[in-house]
Amino acid sequence: MKLDERKSLKVAIHTFGCQMNEYDGEVAAGILGAAGFEIAGEGDADVILMNTCSVREHAEERVFSRLGMLGKVKRTRPELIVGLMGCMVEEHREKLFKRFHQLDLMVGTRNIKELPSLIEEVRRRRQQVARIKQDGISIEYTDLVRRTSKLHAWLPIMTGCDKVCTFCIVPVTRGGEVSMPAREVYREASRLVGEGVKWITLLGQNVNSYRGEGVAFPQLLELLCQIDRLERISFTTSHPSDATEELFQTIARNPKISRRFHLPLQSGSDRILKRMKRLHTYEDYKKKVNRLRELAPDVSLTTDIIVGFSGEAEEDYEATKRALAEVRYDGAYIYKYSVRPTTPAAKLTDDVPYEVKEERNQELLRLQKEIEREKNRSWLGRQVGVFVEGRSPKRSDQLLGRTLQEKKVVFDGAQDLVGTFQTVTLLDIKNETFVGALESVCVP
Ligand code: SF4
Repeated sequence: MKLDERKSLKVAIHTFGCQMNEYDGEVAAGILGAAGFEIAGEGDADVILMNTCSVREHAEERVFSRLGMLGKVKRTRPELIVGLMGCMVEEHREKLFKRFHQLDLMVGTRNIKELPSLIEEVRRRRQQVARIKQDGISIEYTDLVRRTSKLHAWLPIMTGCDKVCTFCIVPVTRGGEVSMPAREVYREASRLVGEGVKWITLLGQNVNSYRGEGVAFPQLLELLCQIDRLERISFTTSHPSDATEELFQTIARNPKISRRFHLPLQSGSDRILKRMKRLHTYEDYKKKVNRLRELAPDVSLTTDIIVGFSGEAEEDYEATKRALAEVRYDGAYIYKYSVRPTTPAAKLTDDVPYEVKEERNQELLRLQKEIEREKNRSWLGRQVGVFVEGRSPKRSDQLLGRTLQEKKVVFDGAQDLVGTFQTVTLLDIKNETFVGALESVCVP
């Protein structure tokens, strides 16, 4: 296909799910843009790509219903190309072609760079095309990434997971753990800083079990902290059994490392943790939380909780409720358990009725909301360091920044403060965003 033909083709990319998918979406946009395609909104797109997530039934249902809708659109626009990327492609593979005739293209997480030629192949052959490579790492650093922020960049350092939590689909969709060599991570981080990036978030399904050429995660953090003009380093997601003393010491020692720590608990009941194969008890988990808070008292702890997992009796649920009240997280993603077909837990009976799951989910959400309200109010009146990310999406006359705990703050300030650190007094909180007042301007 000639370049000017490509130039006339508009591609819309709709990303669902986690930060790893966001990164893959940015890579896809960059590669297609560099190949001459125009990245556009869905309204007037010639190609619609959905970058999918399989972690919960609901995430898949959303894509299935979109496919249904696009099937209707294709009745009047048969030339429209509909494609899938991401975890649903890895999980379902070509089976989806039989179920959805309106689906033209399926691209695996390791085949993103082939998108331009695959779209051409669909146009040329007018047949369903799939490219789903099974093995190897799905990360290939490229300067073609079309980032949504000039100052912040996602940086995947590993993919896959060697743990086998019985409810989780990641080992199926992303395979076993593969870590990028530490020197490549360092080189890519330095390249991003050279492009003006000041804040990097390291990505991995189980980031703290990273091991690149013998370099463990705490050592990688130390290494990256040495990069001049790299001001902040975040990372997600951690597994409690890999959250080590060395990692906590590294965080406490380095002011560049974010104080937002996401540590999924999933359940407060040891019986359910065992059924989930989470490899730790609630006591183990609590000891780690206490140690982290001892070393880094300003840490903001967030978590994931599943309610209604197979076999969850009233006392198991009560244990989870007690854990939330005891740990007092700054944030929690609380979900109803949904069976994922290809996971070990699919063999267990999904015996908690939907209404009970919903009731427990709502009760925990209310409890967590109250804890967050109290914890956020305890920050009011404090002066905090804020990294200024840009204009507030809600009020263009205000700036948006984040504290070292990655709490959002909006305040009045001039555009030239973007990309700098400023001191702000926290005056109020609206939803989950603080409203602050700029103290004297710090000129970098
Ligand atoms: S550690 Fe996380 S990604 Fe790995 S299997 Fe468990 S829940 Fe899934």
